[in-house]
Amino acid sequence: MKQAQDFLKLAHEKFPDAADYDKIQKALDFATTKHSGQKRLSGEDYIIHPIAVASILINWDMDRDTVIAGLLHDVAEDTQTDLKVVEEQFGKEVALLVDGVTKISKARAGRDDITTYLPRTKDNLTKLLVAIGADVRVIIIKLADRLHNLRTLQFQPREKQLKKARESLEIFGPLADRLNMGRVRVEIEDLSFKFLAPKRYEKLKTELETRIGRSKQNLDDVKKEVSRRLAREGIKFRVDGRIKSVYSLHKKLTKHQNIDDIYDLIALRIIVDDVTTCYLVLGLLHQIYQPLPGRIKDYISRPKPNGYQSLHTTVETPEGQIVEFQIRTEQMHEYAEHGLAAAFHYNEQKLSDTYKTGGLAPLPADLRWIQDLQRAAGKLRSGEKVDFDAFKVNLFSDRIFVYTPNNDIFDLPAGSLPLDFAYQVHSEVAAKAAGFKINGKIARFDTPLKSGDVVEVITRRNVIPHVDWLNKIFTSHARAKLRAQLRKSDKSSIK
Ligand code: MN
Repeated sequence: MKQAQDFLKLAHEKFPDAADYDKIQKALDFATTKHSGQKRLSGEDYIIHPIAVASILINWDMDRDTVIAGLLHDVAEDTQTDLKVVEEQFGKEVALLVDGVTKISKARAGRDDITTYLPRTKDNLTKLLVAIGADVRVIIIKLADRLHNLRTLQFQPREKQLKKARESLEIFGPLADRLNMGRVRVEIEDLSFKFLAPKRYEKLKTELETRIGRSKQNLDDVKKEVSRRLAREGIKFRVDGRIKSVYSLHKKLTKHQNIDDIYDLIALRIIVDDVTTCYLVLGLLHQIYQPLPGRIKDYISRPKPNGYQSLHTTVETPEGQIVEFQIRTEQMHEYAEHGLAAAFHYNEQKLSDTYKTGGLAPLPADLRWIQDLQRAAGKLRSGEKVDFDAFKVNLFSDRIFVYTPNNDIFDLPAGSLPLDFAYQVHSEVAAKAAGFKINGKIARFDTPLKSGDVVEVITRRNVIPHVDWLNKIFTSHARAKLRAQLRKSDKSSIK
């Protein structure tokens, strides 16, 4: 079979070591035998799906065991293969990964509300927690699985297409974004959007292509001029262009009326060797072209919550062409494209347990939920109690990232209010809250917080927590802390 041959060729390139390659080949044989006779809706043999998933994982530079688990990811669920057999043949690590992916599918089967990824019952949630918490590579396999299913979605009935597309846009896209897997997020979003709104998708795609075609000459000139200038300064660099994805254009158009107001339809990326050179290049660009005010972003000194780093600036050429530049190091580039997957490079076979389970310190704030999951999963395994209500708010709902005036970052669920932030900082601070400043301005207790807000708690010694605060709180964490304080002050006032 052609797919199998191509896969083995790819595997051989990435895993030249005979021991690794043989194990992968053995897994391919195993999966092929198990799935034999099964068909995809396209009419092809089922095995093309696990092969495609494993190929995606190889292209993401994942380690050997993850690739093997990709080949075997459906054997437990779809062929009733005992995981003990998988463990005997391929080791405990692979068996755990396959088990994790299977548990996610099972947990998901128990829910019908697609707007939240939260399973309906605690039992399902338990499975999900244990599955993901055990090893983040489970999520990465799941993303590869979803990606291939989206690429072949045209064979599904319309109803299923819509369900999968919606679910992907709401869960798997954001999940990829959380992991800073930029390229995967874009593909998931564009494929989903294409199925959800085919006409709008085609219209925007054509519009995007037309505009880019029109400014191609201008952009080439800019690229040449910049390259000449950087070369003259003796800077080692490469430039590539990135075209805005259709879905992110669609999202931007919900905020801006006119496509002409969107300046980053195309961005030029300049990739250099080190951080100092990034700033040097930024300075040079501003010498050549006029920067637009308010469009210079330093995500190097202040990375995005998911760990993304780059310098961004938008400039105007003398010809009136507006161009966005993104300047970053090779390492930042790799991380922006592949995110967490970049941590599992195939030639780093020997991953320590902490590394593998996301215990890399420090994790970007946006990835701390992985640690939360792992901690919860650990508790479950050792028979401890887990506060499931806390997860209801926190697990997959949107997070916002809020800063203290000292630049400490706190992540909170979207919808959080200033008191939620204060309780996150410290309960004693919250208890003395007389007011708040958001971005330097006095704000009311019921002002919803936004990502990027700098929040200052104004405290006064004579303030005590008030029962009315219960209405000005969103998170269960803050609510629990406040309740405890109210009980305590009740008792002391009786005395
Ligand atoms: Mn699958």
